[in-house]
Amino acid sequence: MDAVTAPYQIVVGLEVHVQLMTASKLFCSCSTQFGLPPNSATCPICLGMPGVLPVMNRRAFELAMTAALALNCAVTRHTKWDRKNYYYPDLPKNYQISQFDQPMSQEGYLEISTAEGNKKIGIIRAHLEEDAGKMLHDETGHGRASHVDLNRAGTPLLEIVSHPHINSGAEVKAYLDEIRLLLREMKVSDCEMQEGSLRVDANVNVNFEYLGRKVATPIVEVKNVNSIRAVERAVQYEAQRQYEQFERDHIEMSPANKVTAKWIDEEGRTEVIRRKEEAADYRYFPEPDLVTVEVDDAWIEKIRQSMPELPSQRRERYQVVLGLPNYDARLLTSLGADFCSYFESVYAATQDAKLSSNWCTNQIMQIMNDQNISISQFPVSPERLGSLLLQVKKFNINMQRSRDAFNLLLSTEASAEDIVNKLGLNVTFDEADLRRMVLNSLAGNAKAIQDVKAGKSKAMDALLGPVMRETKGKAPMDLVRQILQEELAKR
Ligand SMILES: [Zn+2]
Repeated sequence: MDAVTAPYQIVVGLEVHVQLMTASKLFCSCSTQFGLPPNSATCPICLGMPGVLPVMNRRAFELAMTAALALNCAVTRHTKWDRKNYYYPDLPKNYQISQFDQPMSQEGYLEISTAEGNKKIGIIRAHLEEDAGKMLHDETGHGRASHVDLNRAGTPLLEIVSHPHINSGAEVKAYLDEIRLLLREMKVSDCEMQEGSLRVDANVNVNFEYLGRKVATPIVEVKNVNSIRAVERAVQYEAQRQYEQFERDHIEMSPANKVTAKWIDEEGRTEVIRRKEEAADYRYFPEPDLVTVEVDDAWIEKIRQSMPELPSQRRERYQVVLGLPNYDARLLTSLGADFCSYFESVYAATQDAKLSSNWCTNQIMQIMNDQNISISQFPVSPERLGSLLLQVKKFNINMQRSRDAFNLLLSTEASAEDIVNKLGLNVTFDEADLRRMVLNSLAGNAKAIQDVKAGKSKAMDALLGPVMRETKGKAPMDLVRQILQEELAKR
């Protein structure tokens, strides 16, 4: 199901919480390390004891600014902090320090790739807040006890709120994949969903025509879905469920009928956990213990200068400067900065972007997957691979033969030149020679020509055979095929 074929339009706004990659918490020096013994990384500040004063972690603010700039947001010059008051067992202070009416950034966008081309998803705001603790419930099922682990309390989070510009499950996936790639490349967050450093809430409803007017179903907020695939499924499920629900009850969206649900992945369905009878009132008020943050141009410029190339900029450069197709540019970029830098070193040696891209995304990737290694562990340096590819180009070596040479490159210390010489691949065929061989083959194969003309493509082999024999299998097959097609077309 997608937005094109469904009888309705899916409308999704996402709230993404990412944990910033700081060593210490947002307002104290406690560690943010994952997996420490429960309650070992806490202090009077993050527990909100009376009389203590929080102090903002400047690094957290800078990482948030990096993300905001990467998301094309305007960074607010004057940022204040607010207390969001609510009671929950894993929130010992009974309030969370967040940002209410003056978030640190707003109105940006993230560009995603869709089946219909690129699309800008608007970002309403990105703001900083501290995380709450975590409830540990009795796993025996007897309900004997619940424990609270406050190690996570006070960990810096960036909440990124999108406009409801996302219109299909596929776009949900594209948006989350891009956010994760972007924030990892910027070293803003590791975005590990399994460790809770990327959490997603999806606000979903559907629009469609009903009795000649456009109607919208009540919004369902699906909370804390724990994988990108699960968010995609949850959105598609909710859309269909809401459409069917409307057919039964004809209830339309209103501010009062938004509900909160959770996604049950094993059963592939949502379940309502809360009905908001009225808009939630968190009684925000300004945090009295923290000073406002004043951001000036010099600070923003310093952050901007320290940012690496964005994935979107890299994709653009690969297409515009290196002339790669969109598919290659997307695939290479999605593999991360280290892989791209390997590819660029291969390219520097060959000056052939497509050839370098093909080898990196096929042979190299396959070996990395088979051996479960990263590009930094890959045994052949980009310079050696580049020198082999230069030989491949120089002698027009076909794929089968270049794989043989590549295998020797992997298993020996020999240089690309030595390997190519040893395998006897250092021969060149000029086009006139190859055309002469093709014409000879055609002259002796009237039956095969007839078969090819009749649409039996297997008969091509009979025409290629003599050329391969004459060149001892070293002929550049692409070129031979091309010449063969040209000559066949004349008959
Ligand atoms: Zn602390």
